Amino acid sequence: MEFNETPWGILSGIRPSKIATKLLLSGMSEADAVKYFAEKYGTDIKKAQLAVSVAAAELPVRQSLYPDGVSIYIGIPFCPSRCLYCSFVTCGTKQAAKLIGKYCEALKKEISYTADIIKSNNNKIETVYIGGGTPTTLSAEELDDILTHMYSTFDLQYCKEFTVEAGRPDTITADKLNVLKKHGVTRISINPQSMNQSTLDIIGRAHTPEQIRSAFYLARECGFDNINMDVIAGLPGETYDMFKHTLSEVEQLSPEDTTVHVMSIKRSSRLHEYLEKYKLSSSSEVSAMVDYAYDYLTSLGKHPYYMYRQKNQLGNLENVAYSRPGFDSLYNIYIMEEIQTIISLGCGGVTKTVDRATDRIERIFNVKEPKDYIERLDEMLKRKDTLRQ
Ligand code: SF4
Repeated sequence: MEFNETPWGILSGIRPSKIATKLLLSGMSEADAVKYFAEKYGTDIKKAQLAVSVAAAELPVRQSLYPDGVSIYIGIPFCPSRCLYCSFVTCGTKQAAKLIGKYCEALKKEISYTADIIKSNNNKIETVYIGGGTPTTLSAEELDDILTHMYSTFDLQYCKEFTVEAGRPDTITADKLNVLKKHGVTRISINPQSMNQSTLDIIGRAHTPEQIRSAFYLARECGFDNINMDVIAGLPGETYDMFKHTLSEVEQLSPEDTTVHVMSIKRSSRLHEYLEKYKLSSSSEVSAMVDYAYDYLTSLGKHPYYMYRQKNQLGNLENVAYSRPGFDSLYNIYIMEEIQTIISLGCGGVTKTVDRATDRIERIFNVKEPKDYIERLDEMLKRKDTLRQ
């Protein structure tokens, strides 16, 4: 087929499963949808099957949405160090130390302001996601302060899922996990990216595979029974066997959710700047890695339930999350399928309002830099006024 040069054929969008969902909602069977998808877009049959399976997993979630529900995203833009491939606005802790206190105060004001809008609109908060950056860069006291403030302002009685990214194992302590647990956090992420020490050193993550295992066991001891782990296929210097090793080590821990990302070369990353210094996997190697991930994780009883593509991913591939039955992350589905308004707070936050009747989506942007966010908070609050109904 002439346009079948990438596994996704002529599809350039980041949400292939959204197209597959429309096919299923139109009444097509899964088998017909796969055939139609592969023929119309020139995708590999395996990719068409993946998009349709993800869409099929997401359908029941649509049915159970609150009619007047919204979700909340809160960004904590701080990390212990910057990963080689990162393009997010994040501050290393030394630089951040001066800003964290003021940032938390500004964030609490935005939380109060937004809570008032949600209350007057009579919206129910369906899910909450605290991401970043690495939220657990904050101390246990700072986390406690923000979460206490959230409960005193937001009405969280209808919240079905509360996720906090505890991404870096080197930021996880029993005190912080206990604070999250005390405040009703239901789901956390502990992200190894790789279980190979040489790779962790290359990508600038100052932790060991052993720290990942310890953080995971600690989270279990603290009562977390819904843990996501992220890995990346195609990290600099990694071979197929190294990726297999990572997956095998991760699955020995038995997380409820494993997200397999494909290396993406982001323009504002250090990786992009010094690209010639690193050995990257070929398209066929990364493709073999994601195929292996699919076969391996599904053989363990997990299923793909959410996916997206990014610009400049090796092999033009995709990121896919695999979960055990009953552990699909609602927030991830809402954001990727664009089926619910997500109100984003903190710097870099992009609020997306979704009108389900018309499929109309509008965006409200917060500034990206923490310093600007603190200084221009009043302007960010005013921008949120457009949410008032
Ligand atoms: S943990 Fe995530 S946000 Fe932080 S530096 Fe690494 S890639 Fe960027």
